[in-house]
Amino acid sequence: MGAVDVSKLNWMTTRMDAALGWARKFSIFQYPFVTACCGMEYMATATAHYDMDRFGAGFPRFSPRQADVLFVVGTISHKMAPVLKRIYDQMAEPKWVVAFGVCTCTGGFYDNYATVQGIDTIVPVDIYIPGCPPRPENVLDGLIKLQEKIAQGEYHRVPQELATRSGEFRVPHRPDAHL
Ligand code: SF4
Repeated sequence: MGAVDVSKLNWMTTRMDAALGWARKFSIFQYPFVTACCGMEYMATATAHYDMDRFGAGFPRFSPRQADVLFVVGTISHKMAPVLKRIYDQMAEPKWVVAFGVCTCTGGFYDNYATVQGIDTIVPVDIYIPGCPPRPENVLDGLIKLQEKIAQGEYHRVPQELATRSGEFRVPHRPDAHL
């Protein structure tokens, strides 16, 4: 039997990617990392009224090893930053991160020495949901945008040399934090 011309099978791998993306976008296992007042609105979004189950995202997991979407909800202090990084490192790929509320997106009005000025200084962020706190409609909008990314197979791949350093993370110095 002759060698198979792989280039002729491209249509097949493409369709497989599309099927995987479609399945993944409706099976979101989220890990809620809740630290502050945004948690109230996170819980409001999780109620039956907003029905996150229709997006396949109604079932949070409380182990990062079983989750594929990290919801960071609330203010993150520099003391908490290594914990957040450790949680992220413990999640298997593919994985996505949602910054929930302006505190996680930019530090919000906590422009001070103790607060991380945006969690994207610690972990890669896929979706930013602004607001203080964001309303459930904003959260659902962010979730739909996240589904689009998941369906496209877009996610941040962790470089192998960084993936082996789990637990050795140090918060980077941010000299511009107070500008
Ligand atoms: S964005 Fe507003 S509601 Fe959310 S954690 Fe920050 S201060 Fe609290």
